[in-house]
Amino acid sequence: MKIAIDGPAASGKSTLAHRLAEALGFLFVPTGAMYRAAALARIRGLSLDAAQITVHRGGRIHLQGEDVTDRLSSPELDRMSSQVAVDPEVRSHLVSLQRAVAETTDVVMEGRDIGTVVLPDAEVKFYMWAEPQERALRRQQERGGALEEVLAAIMQRDERDSTRSASPLRPAGDAHVLDTTGMTPEQTLAAALRVVEERRAHETR
Ligand code: C5P
Repeated sequence: MKIAIDGPAASGKSTLAHRLAEALGFLFVPTGAMYRAAALARIRGLSLDAAQITVHRGGRIHLQGEDVTDRLSSPELDRMSSQVAVDPEVRSHLVSLQRAVAETTDVVMEGRDIGTVVLPDAEVKFYMWAEPQERALRRQQERGGALEEVLAAIMQRDERDSTRSASPLRPAGDAHVLDTTGMTPEQTLAAALRVVEERRAHETR
């Protein structure tokens, strides 16, 4: 089974995808972290082929065999990842890796173009949303910083991700929209699990 989760920056995709994958025993694939690893590879002067980006249990990301997951969440890589993500060559390289993973195992994959481009045949698709002010607050609680600056960086990244020509961020026509404004992660997980269970019940009918 393939579950696709898309949405703008800091909308809660990773939190939901991680928990949903744990609840279902699926592999969690954070594709944003793969773009962040591609940006890190560029900083290190590595070509894409030499970069060898791989996904492991719990959504851990390796670059040339090194677990770089904990280095990927910085304002610099927030910005640089969305800059490398406009490059069609980077996208096609990472999309092939993402599809190859989903071919061999059940996945909860999150990103910007999963339901639309990477896994258009995913059995369940979610599009996550929350008011920008709330997304900025969540990010600030995780990482600190001045709220106005966090909000401005999120808005700038959403703008770049939604207006680029290669696979822009947009909801798939058949996605369930989850507006998580004012919802806790537990409530969001429960809502998503209900949708997945409905789909499974439908398939066994
Ligand atoms: O989700 P996250 O904030 O980690 O993503 C970092 C950046 O990677 C995004 O701003 C976006 O530019 C890019 N990205 C993408 N396609 C995806 C996942 C992430 O273009 N499927």
